[in-house]
Amino acid sequence: MYSAKNAETSDAVNLNWTEKKNSTIVNDIHSKLNATRHRQVLRVTSGDQVQQLLRARQYEGSSFCIAGGRHSMGGQQFLTDGIMLDTSMMNAVVDFCPKRGRLTVQSGMLWGDLVDKLNALNEKHHCRWSIIQKPTGADDISIGGSLASNIHGRVLARKPFIADVECFTAILADGRRINVSRNENAELFTLCAGGYGMFGFVETITIRLMPSTKLLRKVALVSSEKLIELIENEQSKGALYGDFQFCIDSTAQTFLTSGILSTYHPCAEDTECNTNNVKLSEKNWRELLRLAHVDKEKAFTQYSEHYKRTNGQVYDSQTAQLSMYVPDYHDTLKHDCSGGASGGASEMISELYVPKHKLHEFLLAAKSALTRQKADVIYGTVRLIEKDDESFLPWAKDDFACIIFNLHINHDQISILSAKHSFRTLIDIAISMGGSFYLTYHRYATRKQLLSAYPQFRTFIARKRHYDPMGRFRSNWFNQMLLSLESDV
Ligand SMILES: Cc1cc2nc3c(=O)[nH]c(=O)nc-3n(C[C@H](O)[C@H](O)[C@H](O)COP(=O)(O)OP(=O)(O)OC[C@H]3O[C@@H](n4cnc5c(N)ncnc54)[C@H](O)[C@@H]3O)c2cc1C
Repeated sequence: MYSAKNAETSDAVNLNWTEKKNSTIVNDIHSKLNATRHRQVLRVTSGDQVQQLLRARQYEGSSFCIAGGRHSMGGQQFLTDGIMLDTSMMNAVVDFCPKRGRLTVQSGMLWGDLVDKLNALNEKHHCRWSIIQKPTGADDISIGGSLASNIHGRVLARKPFIADVECFTAILADGRRINVSRNENAELFTLCAGGYGMFGFVETITIRLMPSTKLLRKVALVSSEKLIELIENEQSKGALYGDFQFCIDSTAQTFLTSGILSTYHPCAEDTECNTNNVKLSEKNWRELLRLAHVDKEKAFTQYSEHYKRTNGQVYDSQTAQLSMYVPDYHDTLKHDCSGGASGGASEMISELYVPKHKLHEFLLAAKSALTRQKADVIYGTVRLIEKDDESFLPWAKDDFACIIFNLHINHDQISILSAKHSFRTLIDIAISMGGSFYLTYHRYATRKQLLSAYPQFRTFIARKRHYDPMGRFRSNWFNQMLLSLESDV
C-alpha cells in the first residue's frame, strides 16, 4: 500500500525501452513553473504498449504519469523520477459513425487536429457534424487530458465534457484493458472523467457530436451587474454559446465589472461564413498580449474595439471554438514585463465558480482583493456551466458562473508567493459564496479549501487505492494531495 511517505521514491534501474525518448526534464506549456525530472519519457503509440509496460519485469514497482498536451499547471501530468507516458503519438481516428454522430479517437489527439479530421470525415461522408465544446483558450489540448480534467468550453446550457463522452477504453493499473461507459464499469466512468489520470490510462474515447450549425456572433459592452440576466435573455432567443471578457485595468472603475459579452446564435445553414472579414492575426494577438502587460487600458480598449467589429459575423460551430494560442508568447515579452524578471515570467490561470446570482458580488469582492494585492491580471473571462451530476469529483457542483483569471507571474519566490496568496483569496471568496474552484490550474489550495470544495476527496483517494493499490499511476499533484491530507487518510 502506498502512502504520501513513498510518494517521491524510485529505484534506479537502467531501463531499455526502445521507443523514441524526449528530454526527461519536462515542463508545462503555459506557466512553465513545473519543470520536472522524469526517469524516462516514453512516447507510447497504443494501449498494447501501455499494457506491456505495466506488466514488464523491468518496470515492476515503477510508477507512471500520463501526459497529453501538458497544459495543466498543478503537476497532474508529471511525476518526479517517474516514468512518463506521453500520448502525443496516439492521434489517430479509430471510428466514425456518420449516422449517430459519434467519433472515436486515440486519447492523445489534440482538439485542433480533431476538428480538422472531423471536417475531412464530414466531406467524405457527406454529413455535417460538429464538436459540442472544447477548451476555449488553446487548441493543442488532448482529448485524454480533457476527459481527465473534465473540461468545459463556452457552450451554454451544458454540463462539462463528461456529458459529451459516450464511452472509452482504458488500461487499468494491473494491465487489463476494459470498456468504460455509463453501463459498463460505470464507477470508472465517473472516476476517470475528472480523475486526473489516476484511475487508468485512457486509450480511445468516443465523443458525441452535434449537427454543425452556422452561428451569428452578437457583441456588446456590458456591466457584470446585469450579465446573467443578459446572457439568459440571449439564451431564451436561442444563443448556444457565450462568454464575457472583462476589463483588466485595475486603475479603472470598471475593472472586472465591465466587459465584452459575445453570444452565438444559430442562423440559416446557407448563410455564408465571413470570419475572415475581421480577424486577429498572430501579430495582432502578440501585440494585444504585450499591451495587456504594459498598458492595460489600451489593451482592453483595442480588444473591445476588435470584438465590437466582429458583431454580426457568421461562424461555423466548429471553427468558432478554435482559438489562437502562441505557446512562446511570453519569451517575446521579456523586455516589457514588470520588473524585468531575470528568472523568466509567465501567466498562471485560476478558475473559480459561484452560483450565478452571486457573480456580480464575487467580481466586486475579487476586484477589491486583487487591487489591494496589486495582482497583475492579463486576461479574464466569465462563462456558465450546468451542474455535473455524473463525475465523482465534480467541480460544477451546481449551475455556476465560471470566472477565469490569468495572472502574470515573475518566476521569483516573491511573485510566486503573491500569486499563491491571490489564488487562495479568490478561492476563499468563491467558497464563502457557496462556490468551488478548478483543480487543474495549480495546487495552491489549502487543505481546508480542498475539502470544502471537494468534500469527497478522501473517498476519491480510497477509490484510487481500490483500483490501483500499488500506485502504478501517480503524479506530483496527487502526491501533494496525499501529503496535504496525510494526517487523516
Ligand atoms: C491556455 C490554457 C487554456 C485553457 N483553457 C481551458 C478551458 O477553456 N476550459 C477548460 O476546462 N480547461 C482549460 N484549460 C485547462 C486544460 O484544458 C486542462 O488542464 C487539460 O487537462 C489539459 O489537457 P492536456 O492535453 O494539456 O493534458 P496534460 O496537461 O498533459 O494532462 C492533464 C491531465 O490529463 C491526464 N491525462 C492525459 N492523457 C490521459 C490519458 N490518455 N489517460 C488518462 N489520463 C490522461 C494527465 O495525467 C493529467 O492528469 C486551459 C489551459 C491552458 C494552459
